[in-house]
Amino acid sequence: MEGLSPAEKAAELRKIAKLPASERRDLYAEYKGSGRYMPPEAIHRGVADEYEIDPEKNDGVAHQFDAVVRGRDARKRMHGGDCECCRDYYEAVGPLPVFNAGPVWKDAEEDDEVDSPTKRQRQLEDHQNRISRHREVWRKPPTPPDFWKIGFPSTQEVEDVNARADKMVADREAEIRRQTA
Ligand SMILES: [Zn+2]
Repeated sequence: MEGLSPAEKAAELRKIAKLPASERRDLYAEYKGSGRYMPPEAIHRGVADEYEIDPEKNDGVAHQFDAVVRGRDARKRMHGGDCECCRDYYEAVGPLPVFNAGPVWKDAEEDDEVDSPTKRQRQLEDHQNRISRHREVWRKPPTPPDFWKIGFPSTQEVEDVNARADKMVADREAEIRRQTA
């Protein structure tokens, strides 16, 4: 049900609900691997489902993991990240200045990627990869700041935070697909 408006989706779900139980079961059976109670449209195939992890390059395991790694050289090869506290720093400083490089002439800069949010994001990540003390082998899924807020949010807030979380994950998956293309 990708690409349907909420109203169309609701109509589609109503149609499914009216099917005889046996037909509905067949419909759901196809998706059984993802959990019994998961309706087909709720299943999201993430980037992780599309690529297999090579255990030889991943400490012998075929899944993502988190581990404490010590040693300057080993840590240097890991992804640099940020946290609530230093995120603002990277935002404020922006891309790392480039030393010992020739000047960039005005017309060399004129590709349409200049100053795009993705490019800026890439530059910030590059900066973090060079200097950040937060290191991880596998980058954790990104979450918006309000995601871990405790208490009872309103339905509106929940939808808002979830939408932002979905967008962050989608952006990162798009970035991974771009890098592997
Ligand atoms: Zn930090």
